[in-house]
Amino acid sequence: AWTRSKPPLLRFLDNCLNEFSAETSGSVADYIPELSKADPACFGISLATLDGHVYEVGDSRVPFTIQSMSKPFVFALALDLLGAGRVERAIGVEPSGDPFNSIRLNSENHPFNPMVNAGAIACTGLIHDSKGAEAFEQIRLALGRFAGRELAVDEAVYASESQTGDRNRAIAYLLKTNAVISDDVAAVLDVYFRQCAVLVTARDIAVMAATLANRGVNPVTGEQVLTPYAISRTLSVMTSSGMYDYAGEWIYRIGIPAKSGVGGGILAALPARLGLGSYSPKLDKHGNSVRGIKVCEALSSHYDLHMLNRS
Ligand code: GLN
Repeated sequence: AWTRSKPPLLRFLDNCLNEFSAETSGSVADYIPELSKADPACFGISLATLDGHVYEVGDSRVPFTIQSMSKPFVFALALDLLGAGRVERAIGVEPSGDPFNSIRLNSENHPFNPMVNAGAIACTGLIHDSKGAEAFEQIRLALGRFAGRELAVDEAVYASESQTGDRNRAIAYLLKTNAVISDDVAAVLDVYFRQCAVLVTARDIAVMAATLANRGVNPVTGEQVLTPYAISRTLSVMTSSGMYDYAGEWIYRIGIPAKSGVGGGILAALPARLGLGSYSPKLDKHGNSVRGIKVCEALSSHYDLHMLNRS
């Protein structure tokens, strides 16, 4: 009998896990009180290729809340459900250069882009406008089609954000007074807080990212989840704004469209190549996972993956 040696990619991910476990800087988000209970030692990485192969190391099956990594998927869903014209009239696509929770709108009093809270709340508002009480279920099911399995909500994190989310409430009222949201603000925010509290694992995020990288076809289930138009526009705004006020530096150094969440996740999707999901709850000052950034840097440089360095 012979034993197969570990695939090189798995060895690479193992090395990342070992090397970056030593990195203990940053701090777990606590502005949503329930998030502060996360285990700062948790560290999982998963990488999905477009032939449907999923590699995983460490705590890749530990559930955590998706938070802002829901934003690209909800934007893509809004484009397909409501039509690009409607969405693009309400929400801009320019980087804001501001932190994710900035209350500043653009010169037309619209959100800068769908990757910051203002734009994401507006997106959820558009879906709520058209789907009413079904809005959250539509979002949850769509997220599940990207992941290839049905996803649940962390009720404690949802309740915690709902109780303390006054900044997002302020943003939502500002959107309403500028006619970006036409609906009941409380109902829209309820959907937004729930969508942020959807539970995923690093493995789920890798598959979701690979679906973005694969023109909207989930490489594990084979399902065409959303249209290629919605996916390419989503990857565009991830490229320019996915990492908030670190977006320029990110695309310069790493060169892979990505999105982070304050739960500690990072999702990176390299078109026609791969999807990566990482989970490590300690965040830097921009709200991006410290170890997750290291993993993406290492992946990009080791395999020479910068998207503007292709032939
Ligand atoms: N639910 C969080 C918020 O709205 C999401 C922010 C994030 O992940 N950056 O504040």
